[in-house]
Amino acid sequence: MKRENEQLTRNPIVFCSLPLVNKKMKPLPFDRDFIENLSSKYPTPFYLYDERTLRQNARSFNAAFAWNAGFKEYFAVKANPNPALLKILQSENLGGDCSSLAELVICERIGITGENIMFTSNDTPAAEFVKAAELGAIINLDDITHIDFLAQSLQQIVYHSTLPELLSFRWNPGALRNVESVIGNPVEAKYGLTTEQMFEAYRIAKRRGVKRFGLHTMIASNMLDGLFFRFTAQTVFELVRKIERQTDIRIEFVNIGGGFGTAYRPEETPLDMRQVGALIYEEYEKAKMSPLKIFTESGRWIAASAGTLITRVIHRKDIYKRYVGVDACMANLMRPGMYAAYHHISVLDKETETFTRTGSISPPMETVDIVGSLCENCDKFAVDRKLPMIEIGDFLAIHDAGAHGYSMGFQYNGKLRCAELLLQEDGTVRQIRRAETLDDYFATMEWDTAG
Ligand SMILES: *Cc1c(COP(=O)(O)O)cnc(C)c1O
Repeated sequence: MKRENEQLTRNPIVFCSLPLVNKKMKPLPFDRDFIENLSSKYPTPFYLYDERTLRQNARSFNAAFAWNAGFKEYFAVKANPNPALLKILQSENLGGDCSSLAELVICERIGITGENIMFTSNDTPAAEFVKAAELGAIINLDDITHIDFLAQSLQQIVYHSTLPELLSFRWNPGALRNVESVIGNPVEAKYGLTTEQMFEAYRIAKRRGVKRFGLHTMIASNMLDGLFFRFTAQTVFELVRKIERQTDIRIEFVNIGGGFGTAYRPEETPLDMRQVGALIYEEYEKAKMSPLKIFTESGRWIAASAGTLITRVIHRKDIYKRYVGVDACMANLMRPGMYAAYHHISVLDKETETFTRTGSISPPMETVDIVGSLCENCDKFAVDRKLPMIEIGDFLAIHDAGAHGYSMGFQYNGKLRCAELLLQEDGTVRQIRRAETLDDYFATMEWDTAG
């Protein structure tokens, strides 16, 4: 590291400086000047989403399943509920996968309704079933007792004297070969019906007048191995055939859930959706599943790579370790603190490789923890991360934060949620959610009764 520094000062003939194009880098659609400009209007931290990437992701996803006539991707709204982004995804023909009242209402307000909504909830309050039914959403039940619970809930709606015409059930496959090692044991997961209950559920639903049926399962989580989705398809197609034979119903769609992985680390190979689509197609043809419709509920694959959290360095601290303090904290992005998840970090305009007569020089590096201001020691965006030397005032870009980023935020320690900005296809930036203010924070407090 030291030698590189010396080289840099001893070698005056510089041909050019180029972004580091190697496996340690992730590209960004903007540079430091652009962000510095933006920050004079919108103080850091803020989320910056890239419309182009979001659209590209949605299109690649749809293209991977173009072979399936009824294919639909229901974007998992919990991954990013910003209406402006949902509008973009809606224009790319995506539906919405909801699991709460607020998510249903967001979809309703931007015009995603009817069977363009998949309601995949669990431990569901009655009012949420009512809203889902009012919107004509596809209701995907998480438990066999929810058949009764749903019917009772819907008695509140005059025109719903019975169960909906279309009903889906979420399957928990339980102990599966080779699965535990990658996603955790489904036996320990709270979701879905057992295999045995699935057969019973369709029988009951049929007896109670349900006419159309779907089946849901989600056994992947942030999965980067395409072969795993072939396994999911194979397993699910087998179950569909068995249920159809034993209960004499026809299953109209299978929803294989989300879990399509994001390559958070630059050295990871991104999940190739074309390959995933092709593998599922092979299984589909082999098992002669046509005209079964395939549905998905991806949040991460669609939105993660389209969002960056921009934060500015406000402190450096040297004690037993070296810390770099930024103006964002875990309240803005909790994945690193909560799951020890890796998010790649770029120090804007410092990821350059300088080419000279004698070869190329990487920027001087240091190993630091990147920390936020919460009084929680897990409030770290990176631990022991090797990064170009950071100065106070530098901008850091925290990559792949477009899914399960802002939406997981909270207000612990009185920290406020930041703004969300959209870099539009024409190159202009639009604020799509303002930063919270102290008034927002105080709005629910009962000041009159204090003291
Ligand atoms: C969270 C969730 C998803 C989305 O998961 P991703 O990892 O974003 O693909 C889809 N379906 C259900 C039921 C979920 O809970």
